[in-house]
Amino acid sequence: MHEWSLAEAVINSLIRLAEDRGATAFEEVEITHGEIMELDTLVFRTAFRELSKGTLVEGTRLVLKEEKAKFKCNNCGAEWDFETVEKILSEEFSVIEEPSGTKESALHFLPNLAPALLKCPSCKSRDFDLASGKGLRISKVVMRT
Ligand SMILES: [Zn+2]
Repeated sequence: MHEWSLAEAVINSLIRLAEDRGATAFEEVEITHGEIMELDTLVFRTAFRELSKGTLVEGTRLVLKEEKAKFKCNNCGAEWDFETVEKILSEEFSVIEEPSGTKESALHFLPNLAPALLKCPSCKSRDFDLASGKGLRISKVVMRT
């Protein structure tokens, strides 16, 4: 349940921020989470609400924004998105055939492995970066003093 530890980390950062700036409460907090994390926003919201009880973060309006993943090749400079990754992987790694006859992409079971399996769609280099769409950060806060 990494949503709970992420929520806890966010709340702790907010409390520190409030102390630094002399704020007494937050009106709104905007969190940007990368597509690649596949954050369960419902669980995250619950964790945030529960863990903030009794702190000055309690009652803050939580806005969650997903950031699309973007990959960038260090060799040729090509950029591509997560949908392209899914397409490449389903073409390159044969689909898993279930006894029922339905086919599932390997990526469906191994989403976290996708970046490790990937090559640049343009030059086939494995030297690339995930330029955006990873991690989680506090992108905006509205404080009350
Ligand atoms: Zn390339």
